[in-house]
Parts: sequence; structure tokens; C-alpha cells
Amino acid sequence: MIHRERIKALNQKRAQDGRYVLYWMQASQRAEYNHALEYAISTANEQGKPLVVYFGITGNFPEANERHYVFMLQGLQEVEQSLRARGIMMVIRAESPEIGAVEMSKDASMTIVDQGYLRIQQHWRSHAAEHAACPVVQVESEVIVPVEAASAKEEYAAATLRPKITSKLRHYLVPLRERRPRLDSLDLEFDSLDVGDVDQALSGIDIDRSVKPVSQFRGGTRQARTHLEAFVKGKLDRYPELRNDPTADYLSNMSPYLHFGQVSPLYIALRVSESGSRGKDDYLEELIVRRELSMNFAHYSRDYDSFDGLPQWAQKTLQEHSKDPREYLHSPAELEAARTHDPYWNAAQEEMVKTGKMHGYMRMYWGKKIIEWSKSPEEAFQTALYLNNKYELDGRDPNGFTGVAWCFGKHDRPWEERRVVGTLRYMTAGGLRRKFDADAYVKRVRALG
Ligand code: FAD
Repeated sequence: MIHRERIKALNQKRAQDGRYVLYWMQASQRAEYNHALEYAISTANEQGKPLVVYFGITGNFPEANERHYVFMLQGLQEVEQSLRARGIMMVIRAESPEIGAVEMSKDASMTIVDQGYLRIQQHWRSHAAEHAACPVVQVESEVIVPVEAASAKEEYAAATLRPKITSKLRHYLVPLRERRPRLDSLDLEFDSLDVGDVDQALSGIDIDRSVKPVSQFRGGTRQARTHLEAFVKGKLDRYPELRNDPTADYLSNMSPYLHFGQVSPLYIALRVSESGSRGKDDYLEELIVRRELSMNFAHYSRDYDSFDGLPQWAQKTLQEHSKDPREYLHSPAELEAARTHDPYWNAAQEEMVKTGKMHGYMRMYWGKKIIEWSKSPEEAFQTALYLNNKYELDGRDPNGFTGVAWCFGKHDRPWEERRVVGTLRYMTAGGLRRKFDADAYVKRVRALG
């Protein structure tokens, strides 16, 4: 079912008699459990036209590098094959997506696009809506409860969003039926980038190659499903007690796949719900309430990626303590090289650099310590975002901007006052050791290839 609240007309252009219906795939990079794709198939069937899917790859997406591009292309390879198996042509081009979407719209009766929450994704959609030759309709497929249906404003914290989301879950947590295109589009002729060989496809695109791909995670919907099944069958039951232990491998690893839209949050939530596992409520709290709180922040705050987006109390307390002497001072370069005095922090940084995914519990400690050891809170904010977005496979995501902001007080409340960090929530190395075997974590990370 595709709820009306997921659908939004982005312009008021008149329908034209195009050769095809266009689905401009951007945020929801998958051929299954994709509301925008299914809506596009229904529209094409109603109009008696074939459906063409377009994807534009820009070489200069802010902060993206080879690690991210390889993962994304591995996913697109699979999308292309899956669409082909459904009789749908996928056109991939190395160009800025909004430019390609406008070009492709010239022959389209209608353009359908999925929804992304970052500023650049919104900007692309506005540009395309303004310049497209046909109506452009956005269909949301990246959250369970559409952001504006969940709340009409920026929420203060998880506690204020939770009741609004949970009361609507029965309505939105429902399966999505797969439609069958009546007309095949495979015979239509288009220039398209061959993504059969990822390295070859990337060789023609000018991307930042400073961070190399990782072997621990391969992109694509099949991979996402494999990780999810292993998690649901082997780990979900003990997720509540082990998810905060970085020496235990008890997380779902869904975040890189969610970030690239290679897996649907709805699909994950339904799979976890039907498992009947005792861990399901804790997991759904993270996947739905916490994650959708991030979307709420990115959607309603223009400053989701800046120090100005932090709550007033947090900015004030950090300013009041900005001149406090630091017990340790580490430059952004020392932090990036994992050369601080703290072996646990270094291990967390190293885990992220080596695997593209730092354990969730360590992310909190990692962000908090950057505040304590940086020259100023503003520098700390920039450093944390820079490192997060450069190395995490799931970086450059509403969850990443919100996670960093959380370390600086967003969605949290004031605690006891201390030097440097003021009334921000505080974490210590001793606290880590009390929670889990922190030295075993260091050894584990050192042993990673
Ligand atoms: P699981 O524990 O298996 O959780 C399943 C899903 O629930 C996750 O994929 C995610 O979508 C959601 N989730 C879990 N924890 C959180 C949380 N705290 N906030 C919001 N959603 C959550 N997440 C990113 O996706 N990208 C980032 O760049 C990112 N950067 C972060 C930076 C900092 C400083 C902090 C404190 C958190 C950050 N997070 C980020 C949130 C969280 O740490 C990750 O989503 C989680 O570790 C991903 O691993 P997983 O999928 O195996 O998690």
C-alpha cells in the first residue's frame, strides 16, 4: 500500500504525451520494497506507457570518496539486473542527477522521484521540478512514518517524537505489494554507463580516491538481506543486552545499506516484527524512533550540519567553557591518524578507517572525546563531522549529522557541569571498562586487516 502522505507533487506542470514514465532513482537505490518504483510502475500502467528508471552519478557529491562510490556501484549493479528481470530499462549516467533528470524528462509524460533528506538532495529535486518538461512527483520510501505525518515541527527529543510515531505504526507498518509493468522498456535505446565492472565504470568519473573501499562490507540489496537474516536468526534475541558491547558482534549492520537506500526500513521493520524475538522492541526503537528523529531534524532544521543547529543551552554551556584549560589537546590531524593518548579512542577511529563502520557504542565515546580534546567546540564539531563523513560507509546521512549533534547536546538535556564540556553528557574511559572489556576491543581492532 502506498499512503497518500508519501506522495507529493513537486511542480504543477501539465502532463505531456511522452514516450515513457520516468522514475528518477536517487535516494532509494533498490528494486524491491521501493514505494517510488511501485508508484512509477502503477502510473506507467495507467498511462499505457513503459517505465524507464534513471540514475545520475555525480563525481563530486559532497564528502563522498572511492569507499562510498564502490559500495554504491555494487548496489546499482544489482538494481540494474533486478529491474531488467522485471522488464524495466535502467539508464545510468555519469552526470549531476538533477541535470540528467531534466534531460530525461523531455520525453517523459511524468517523472517520479524518491525522497532524500539532505540539503543537496532537496536542491536537486527543486531544480528538476522547476526545469522538467513534465509533472514531477516525489514518493517517500526512506522512513516508516512519513516525516510530516509524524510531526509538523522539529522535535525536541526522542521522548516527544516517540508517542507520535508509535501511535501511527499500525497504519504505516504494512507490506508493499510488487506491481508488474504491463509494457517492457528494454527495447528503448539510451546511452547508459555499463556498471558490470565497478572499477571500469568508476575509471571514467573524477572522484576523490583518498579513502579506499573496504572488504568487510559489500554493497547491494542481497548483501543487506544476508546480514539481516544472520542478525534476526542469530543475534536479535540478545540485542538488548549486547548491543552496547563492541567486543560482541551483535549489531545488524544495516546502516550502510540504509544510507544508500539499498534496503528498505519498512522491509527490515516487518522482518524484525514478524520474528517474535524478545529483542524486537529494542531494535525497532533504534530503527524507527531514533532513525526517524534524525530525519525529523534534517527535514525541519536548516542547520542540521552546523554548530548553530545545536540547542541554545548546549551552545551557551560550550561557549562558557571554551577557554577552560584542556587536559589533553589533539589536533584534527592527530585525531585522524588515531594518535591520541587514549587507546580506546584510537581503536574506535582505527575501526572506522579500516572497516568503514565504527561500533555504535564507541561512536558516542568517540564524539564526546573530540569535544574535550579540541581547541574549541566549533573545531570539534567540524572535526567530528569531517571524520565521520569521510570514513563511515553510512556517513553523510541524517543519522550521522544527528549523531554528531547528539554528542553536542542535541536531543539530550543538561547534566552535571564539568570543565570544558560544561553541562553536556559526559563519558569516561572508566565507564567503558565497566560496561565491557575495553582492552579486548582494542585487541580486536588491531587484529583487523
Ligand atoms: P543497529 O544497532 O543494528 O541499529 C539498526 C538501525 O537502527 C541502524 O542501522 C540505524 O538506522 C538505527 N540506529 C541505531 N542506532 C541509532 C542512533 N543512535 N541514532 C539513530 N539511528 C540509530 N548512523 C548512521 O547511519 N550514519 C552515521 O554517519 C552515523 N554517525 C554517528 C555518529 C555519532 C557520533 C553517533 C553517536 C551516532 C552515529 N550514528 C550514525 C548512529 C548509530 O551509531 C548507527 O546508526 C549505528 O551504529 C549503525 O550500526 P547498525 O546498523 O549495525 O546498528
